[in-house]
Amino acid sequence: GLSAASGLPTFRGAGGMWRNYEVTMLATPKAFEEDPGLVWQFYSMRRHMALAAKPNVAHFALAELARRKGDDGGFRTLTQNVDGLSVRANHPPETIDYLHGHLFDVQCFSRSCDYKVQDFRDPIIPELAVPLARQSLARRAPGPEQDSNAEGELVYDENASLQPVPREAIPKCNNLLRPGVVWFGEMLDEDMLASIDRWIDGGVDLCIVIGTSGNVHPAAGYYAHEIRRSGGKVAIVDLDVSAGGWRGGKEAFDWVFEGDASKIVPELLRPLIGEITMTENGDAAEA
Ligand SMILES: [Zn+2]
Repeated sequence: GLSAASGLPTFRGAGGMWRNYEVTMLATPKAFEEDPGLVWQFYSMRRHMALAAKPNVAHFALAELARRKGDDGGFRTLTQNVDGLSVRANHPPETIDYLHGHLFDVQCFSRSCDYKVQDFRDPIIPELAVPLARQSLARRAPGPEQDSNAEGELVYDENASLQPVPREAIPKCNNLLRPGVVWFGEMLDEDMLASIDRWIDGGVDLCIVIGTSGNVHPAAGYYAHEIRRSGGKVAIVDLDVSAGGWRGGKEAFDWVFEGDASKIVPELLRPLIGEITMTENGDAAEA
């Protein structure tokens, strides 16, 4: 939800396809073992699209709140987004937990190895360059205002053949690098979950759930429920709370804000962080 205003699709929905592959079949350890090059091509496309998007004012607002209130666990962000937009909004890393990892962490395929680096290159190696093509203007419906000199938009070329990806093992352990996201069938990081549990046990007086749904993302529902059960207040910001499948519906929250998270979140936080304005190149500037 936080990244919806940045124009990023999620790929998690049922029926999500990429080049005739079901996304749910590609985002698994088994798929990587069988064809790591193919899985990397899929993630190279995801990285390219995430880099084409820009953090919006809500990402910057949460990062600013973390800078002002994040010391000693005063404020913590738990995110299920893998798009790395909070990283690019300079969200202080010690105040945010990426529950599902993110696309720009690159780590060892072996679970017993802790090799992990952050890598924002696009492409990460030349063979993973995302195939792009100009959208054919001929296929578009003609309109009276159409400029005959206009070039079609650059879009992902589903028909281009993918280059073979060389197998380059990590020298120290001889394993392959994989995207640092949590795949279907994988557990979330145990140390991270234990740290979050300790933090919640320490007492949280306010939780703001931003644009997610209780059904699809159990983590958000679980933490909101735990915080409310132990006496904290819970607010939700979402386009359509009723559609979110929350147990108890709107009654599950102390406050409900329906609308675009990129507009509501900065407004809610303004008394604490002031006005966040965006420059034309997509950076945040404090007014
Ligand atoms: Zn390793």
